[in-house]
Amino acid sequence: MKLRVDDITADAKELAFSEPQGEINRALGLGPIREYRLEGPVSVVLSYYSAGTELFFRGELTAATVATCARCAEEFVAPSGRSFRYVLAPRSIGDDSNADLRAEDLEFSLYEGEEVNLTPLIREQMLLALPTRPLCRDDCRGLCPRCGANLNERECGCVIESADARLSVLRSIKVRRPN
Ligand SMILES: [Zn+2]
Ligand SMILES: [Zn+2]
Repeated sequence: MKLRVDDITADAKELAFSEPQGEINRALGLGPIREYRLEGPVSVVLSYYSAGTELFFRGELTAATVATCARCAEEFVAPSGRSFRYVLAPRSIGDDSNADLRAEDLEFSLYEGEEVNLTPLIREQMLLALPTRPLCRDDCRGLCPRCGANLNERECGCVIESADARLSVLRSIKVRRPN
């Protein structure tokens, strides 16, 4: 999504649009967050205005995402959403070192030319909207470490020794050790 800088005025305007999910899914597949996939485009509702040369954006995005549970590896539908704000300043104006410093702030970015490209900002915010460790439910029991059964679906009957149990065995061996 691109906006013409001339169209961004002191009067706030609203805009609803959607960003295609293709590039975001590619980034998810290549990056550290592989547990997610977007099922459709990202819906964005945005309001924007200018004050001097700075451009102000406030928006909300939502997307239907499918996540892979970090415990049981089952896929589940996880709607994702996030509110965001950006302030964009023209690249050509101002002290460069100061701009670099502020550019590290997620909510600050630069624009140049006659257009503002919102697509990279939306992609960045979409990735931030995804929790790093998705769980299909808070009390997901995960997979049996011995046989791999999904413990949400069935009890596999495997006996898993806890650390405490192993410790007590060690203790009893010591006690029984002959002199
Ligand atoms: Zn799970
Ligand atoms: Zn098992």
